[in-house]
Amino acid sequence: MKKLFFLALAILFISGCFCAKFSIFSRKENSRPDQGLAFKYPLSNTDSADAKEPAKKVLILMYHYVRKVQKEDNPLGYKLSVDPNAFSEQLEWLRENGYHSVSTKDIIEKKITRKSIILSFDDGYEDFYIEALPRLKKYGFSATCAIIVNQIDTPHYLSKNQIRELVLSGIEIVSHSMNHPDLTALDSRELEDELKTSKDVLESEFGIKVETFVYPYGKFDENIEEKLKNLDYSLGITTKSGTASLTKNPFKLPRRRVDNRDSFDGFIKKIQTSDW
Ligand SMILES: [Zn+2]
Repeated sequence: MKKLFFLALAILFISGCFCAKFSIFSRKENSRPDQGLAFKYPLSNTDSADAKEPAKKVLILMYHYVRKVQKEDNPLGYKLSVDPNAFSEQLEWLRENGYHSVSTKDIIEKKITRKSIILSFDDGYEDFYIEALPRLKKYGFSATCAIIVNQIDTPHYLSKNQIRELVLSGIEIVSHSMNHPDLTALDSRELEDELKTSKDVLESEFGIKVETFVYPYGKFDENIEEKLKNLDYSLGITTKSGTASLTKNPFKLPRRRVDNRDSFDGFIKKIQTSDW
């Protein structure tokens, strides 16, 4: 009888643990930042006349971190970051001035229209999920995240679950290699791993197609370009400054860098003086 009593107690204890675990999981799932907003948010200005007129050029903006950082504490980090409030102001201005976001897939499919921009974020930092995503949703923009595959689930980088949620929110995920090396310094086996394995892992893990590669440090050569083509990539994105054109080499697409050194007026000038 005593044995039976302990057995019943043990069953109750185990099922209690399971329920607690389950409810923690549910809570975590509900605390995502998109709560209260449409899950697939409407993209801004896609009904405008500009958005219906085909174009040959698209401006790709290059961001890294969206976070608060003091110049004195972290000079390099400051140069790689945009303050979250400044980011909101930039998005608000882009929206008010008729720009709309597209993806690198739209370049591949030649679906570029006037005032198309791509907001690209390099390295896959966690602050994209925390700071950038809610603001993008608020102002109706999408974005392209270039992921370093071996950094997924490490401190300060996006987790697998966060990336899954980004995919569901319409954020484009592209490859930024496995380990972020200087690709021009690798032997052919190492290069294959950086280009092919990163694509394979992102595709199988997140159920997406990856056809765009963002070169770490913007470094590449003809051999790397050739390898990308053979591995079924369609685009290569550099750190060279300029406006991307549909009529030029798709493996050498330039971007415009945006960081804390851009004042609000400087940002506007950067957009307006780009070669559209
Ligand atoms: Zn990078």
